[in-house]
Amino acid sequence: MSDIQRAPKGTFDRLPPDSAAYLAARDALVAPLLTASYGYVETPVFEETAVFSRGVGESTDVVSKEMYTFSDRGGRSLTLRPEFTAGVMRAFIEHRLYAGALPAKLWTVGSAFRYERPQAGRYRHFTQVSVEALGVDDPALDAELVALADAGFRGLGLTDYDLQLTSLGDATCRPQYRDLLVEFLAGLDLDEDTRQRAAINPLRVLDDKRPEVQAQLADAPLMVDHLSDATKAHYDAVRQHLSDLGVSWVEAPRLVRGLDYYTKTTFEFVHRGLGAQASIGGGGRYDGLSAALGGPDLSGIGYAVGVDRTILAAQAEGLDIPVTGGTDVFVVHLGEEAKRFAVRLVGQLRAAGVAADTVYGGRGLKGAMKAADRSGAARVVVVGDRDLAEGVAQVKTMATGEQVAVPLGELADSLRASV
Ligand code: AMP
Repeated sequence: MSDIQRAPKGTFDRLPPDSAAYLAARDALVAPLLTASYGYVETPVFEETAVFSRGVGESTDVVSKEMYTFSDRGGRSLTLRPEFTAGVMRAFIEHRLYAGALPAKLWTVGSAFRYERPQAGRYRHFTQVSVEALGVDDPALDAELVALADAGFRGLGLTDYDLQLTSLGDATCRPQYRDLLVEFLAGLDLDEDTRQRAAINPLRVLDDKRPEVQAQLADAPLMVDHLSDATKAHYDAVRQHLSDLGVSWVEAPRLVRGLDYYTKTTFEFVHRGLGAQASIGGGGRYDGLSAALGGPDLSGIGYAVGVDRTILAAQAEGLDIPVTGGTDVFVVHLGEEAKRFAVRLVGQLRAAGVAADTVYGGRGLKGAMKAADRSGAARVVVVGDRDLAEGVAQVKTMATGEQVAVPLGELADSLRASV
């Protein structure tokens, strides 16, 4: 196969019938938001590059290594969104949503793009449901968001995951903690790469998975032990509200996320049935993001859930994602008159909200019955010119094989009643 016959590396096509499970999973992740006053927002798939370099942070892998950046014909530097929060924040500022009722509760869903090394669960083009509550710093709001993400997973039946939770402090306590950590890391035996990583963002080293590094980090100072009184009180309140909402979590004092903007509450949903790419969603509070993008100094909190990984997680738990849709009634016709009748009947059924289909391309009875079978329809109508002359059509119930002749005048109503 040549390259033009293949989707680009790290991408894939969604095809029926599996694509129905994708839509259902996406909708299930969104459903809790619709009960909590979140409004849908849609931003462009690309933004000025600076939205992400300033928003997500120059030192992150996402910005330094993974962005799809290009110049358009007008010489602007644009980037395909590697995540949604920075673009949604840009829209919040542009449209002065901060002047309206706060928090601005927003959700969106769509494609994100990262130039990553593809592997199971990690793609260059993937789908996120992304949720933000902007303009208010209230621990109850943090708990609401975490609980909504959790409810999305629960709605699909997922149970084999942990909600990892921590607080990353804020501008009043993180700098001092950072100094402590830098001092601690300076005394360790680390390779050059890791040292460089530590110089850019020392917190990242805590997340290093290699046992030889982890062994040296056993006594590393942790942010949660160095929170200011205010951020500690904030974190305590978040946990209190989460308990009240019936959401359980595990403390994850070494949790570090891949985007620089997080402060205070930070969380990740980690699935136990997935391999290396086990994070199915995550987020946190980002007090500095609005100001970093030239907006007012307002805080926000948000999360993103990966739809593709959520589907993999559901598969790992052996869950069936219930899909809606499919064909209720399939009409098989024999003869010219019967074909006109079938096309008309299908139109009537569809107008009445019954999912109906028929056979196209003159395939003969055998091919038509095969198509009917494949459609999964519970009822199949077989109608020939001779039936029409007699004023009836045959209605077959596929589950039992039972077949009855139904007068044409009653056909549409009886089919509608049967679904
Ligand atoms: P992040 O924006 O990095 O916090 O990621 C949020 C969620 O998006 C993750 O928990 C994953 O479920 C999903 N995700 C992130 N990167 C990818 C990727 N390259 N491929 C598939 N899903 C991803």
